[in-house]
Amino acid sequence: MPHKLVAVYPGSFDPPTLGHIDIIERALKVFGELVVLIAESPTKKSLFTAQERKVLLQNCLKKLQNVKVDIHGGLTVDYLKKIKGHVIIRGLRAVSDFENELQMATMNRKLYPEIETFAVMTSEKYHYISSHTVKEVAIHGGDISELVPEPVIKAIKSKMKSQEK
Ligand code: ADP
Repeated sequence: MPHKLVAVYPGSFDPPTLGHIDIIERALKVFGELVVLIAESPTKKSLFTAQERKVLLQNCLKKLQNVKVDIHGGLTVDYLKKIKGHVIIRGLRAVSDFENELQMATMNRKLYPEIETFAVMTSEKYHYISSHTVKEVAIHGGDISELVPEPVIKAIKSKMKSQEK
């Protein structure tokens, strides 16, 4: 057994929300080190590029220790093999997340049997927040200050402005 377990928290993080930060803080209480892994997909349309999301997450996580942010283009299990990691963290907001997460965890286990997926329940304050709804609210001029960390508020505003041009 490794004495200092590294966990990987993969996701789109487009943009990072207070729900994501909550999961990161909770995971860090249990695992010695956490890699927040941004999935880079050439086919999935995103508001922020993977590099922009990396900088945003780094700014949001400045005060936390033992956490780093990385970008990966392929299967999460291949990243885990590369770093010799065995733990995947995922967040659960509601029962509706469960089916998808179970499917993904089972598939990952099939691809790499040494893997364990840990589902972390978010705080009830954040269970209604998703990156998708944050973008919808922001596009229509709504207030997102209680949904995302400070650096994301600014970044979304400037992204919206640049897209208006
Ligand atoms: P993906 O496209 O991989 O679902 P997301 O960035 O949307 O990427 O989410 C990454 C992980 O974080 C997923 O496990 C998702 O369920 C979880 N998550 C997203 N928003 C929240 C939230 N508000 N509270 C808890 N977990 C969340």
